[in-house]
Amino acid sequence: MSYNRENYIRLKKQFEERSAAAERAAEMRRAELHAAIPELKGMDDAQAQIGLRMFKLAMELSGEELEEAIKKLQYETEQLAADRSALLLAHGYPPDYDKVKYECPTCMDTGFVGTKMCSCFRRALVFAGYESSGIAELIRTQSFETFDPSCQRADPKSYELANLNLSFCRNYAETFDPATSPNLLLIGATGLGKTHLSTAIAKTVIERGFDVVYDTAQNVLADFEYERFGRHGEPEAGEPPRTSKYFECELLIIDDLGTEVANQFTVSCLYNIINTRVNKHLPTIINTNLGREDLRRRYADRITSRLFGEFRPLLFTGTDVRTLKLSSNG
Ligand SMILES: [Zn+2]
Repeated sequence: MSYNRENYIRLKKQFEERSAAAERAAEMRRAELHAAIPELKGMDDAQAQIGLRMFKLAMELSGEELEEAIKKLQYETEQLAADRSALLLAHGYPPDYDKVKYECPTCMDTGFVGTKMCSCFRRALVFAGYESSGIAELIRTQSFETFDPSCQRADPKSYELANLNLSFCRNYAETFDPATSPNLLLIGATGLGKTHLSTAIAKTVIERGFDVVYDTAQNVLADFEYERFGRHGEPEAGEPPRTSKYFECELLIIDDLGTEVANQFTVSCLYNIINTRVNKHLPTIINTNLGREDLRRRYADRITSRLFGEFRPLLFTGTDVRTLKLSSNG
């Protein structure tokens, strides 16, 4: 999934519209209540007046006098609210009937709390990113249910390993907790199910409400190169840098480590991601076709010592699933 500017702008607008619609709907329910229960209008006007009276008192009084007056008004507010609830109940309405009902009360459906992106917005962005990058397709087909270890039956050891990997990954996803879940390093040749299982983890963890970012090493590093060397045009107001998600998401999955162009810049970005996330105790899953020695040759010690020291390795062995499928089809 690659961060996508159009998604961001489209979703921001969508969220603003959703927030406004929730407020309009509440206004309409209030109008309905006022029509059905005439004395309610007087109560709501009195409640609105309290705010003004509070403001006036703050201008006129000070010290203990002000404190005393505020206490009285607060008491009045509570009384009014209690009377209002009782009145609504007596007319067969729930007391919160005309409260604004946001899908996300944290950000009131705006997607932001102050200038900070709400997790609901980030999730929407991730989903939109899956859609626009084609990973949505992977998620539809690559779940735990569709992972079939039996294609490795020919080799008992690989078969056992595939079963172990499946149950480990399933348990990992179902119990995922950013504070306690380990980092994983999925090692093995192409076509043994690393992408399949890590996609299945992403799917389950997203469905459980966590913020997941999934992309190939190549795309992740392309985002860093874009930020460093080629930002065209100014970012949208409030738009975060496109690489911040790699440091902030609750689970980062980097697919195909070792297929990206390795140079001093990309290697230092990679180290920065891994090291920052290890220090923040945010889990990362990395898939690679490279063995330990290849990794050592390709990356600096500071990266491999992190990978070997802080990541739990899961080994994949056997025969390429795609080759098996081809031969069984033909
Ligand atoms: Zn929210």
